[in-house]
Amino acid sequence: MRLTIQLKLQPTPEQADALARTLVRANEACDAISRVAWETRTFRQFAIHKATYADVRATFGLTAQVVVRCIAKVADAYKIDKKVLRTFRPLGAIAYDERILSFKAASVSIWTLDGRHAIPFVCGARQRALLAAQRGETDLALVNGAWYLFATCDVETPAPIDGEGVLGIDLGVTNIATDSDGTLHQGKALKNIRYRHRSLRNKLQRKRTQGARRRLRKLAGQERRFATWVNHNLSKRIVATAEGTKRAIALEDLKGIRTRVTARKSQRATLHSWAFFQLRAFIVYKAARSGVPVHFVDPRNTSRTCPRCGCIDKANRKTQAAFVCTRCGLAGHADVIAAGIIACRAPVNAPYYPDTEQSVAPG
Ligand SMILES: [Zn+2]
Repeated sequence: MRLTIQLKLQPTPEQADALARTLVRANEACDAISRVAWETRTFRQFAIHKATYADVRATFGLTAQVVVRCIAKVADAYKIDKKVLRTFRPLGAIAYDERILSFKAASVSIWTLDGRHAIPFVCGARQRALLAAQRGETDLALVNGAWYLFATCDVETPAPIDGEGVLGIDLGVTNIATDSDGTLHQGKALKNIRYRHRSLRNKLQRKRTQGARRRLRKLAGQERRFATWVNHNLSKRIVATAEGTKRAIALEDLKGIRTRVTARKSQRATLHSWAFFQLRAFIVYKAARSGVPVHFVDPRNTSRTCPRCGCIDKANRKTQAAFVCTRCGLAGHADVIAAGIIACRAPVNAPYYPDTEQSVAPG
């Protein structure tokens, strides 16, 4: 499978300046290439290359590989939409290949308009290990004033674990994740921080000043980073549970989330939040990294079905937390029972095994 790992560069002011000028120049080249492509209705990469390469090389002072990447960027843009002339942000990201960018132990040697620079970078230990397997393209990007590299790595996909049984996961809001073993992964801290910020957020929203807007943005950033950290930990624990007991994981099919939204109105606001989908994505990603198969199951009535007698009734769910079957009287924690139903619905022979590109956040 392919991963994208994120490295933060620590350039000197001179190096940062060289990087910025290089991006600006490359994007000017993209604009020039794009105009030719647009005017001649030439949109395939090879054809654009033939029409523009020599001129762009002669005009912009860019190295051959950068020009090739610029042509590819323009061709990609027209793949999405040929109805308008595509233009490029002056500081939009550009791609490097291994001939113009190479990783050393703690620095990266990268081509700029001023020639090669060795620029130190920081990243986590796991990212560093993965860099050994780095092949192919790396994007240079300026994000909120800081320089980053996004490097593509090929990692070996582990053979799926050969086991029996399925660990069902019910994702919700009151209990962020509940597994069919009965463990509630609550992420309490996550709710606390939301709650703590709520009155402050309301106050700031009423103010409508620029300073208030700035503080709101900062608050949102803090919450997002914190939620990401919580999700990493929760997903790690869940996947470790499945891996340690040689089981697959079952989740509700994404399409089901809307069905569930009508069932649990009170959770609507939070259900739509990205944190919910992020946790799900982390579980899928970490499972693939560990060779844990993931099944996506039909989500209909998972929270209303009795696992003992099969009775489906809205009334089975007495409260948010309590399940009591109206027919046979089976009672238990509603989310644990839902997780059990999810586990039961997994067809044990047809695991979903992702082969798509995934990305991993730092840390
Ligand atoms: Zn029952």
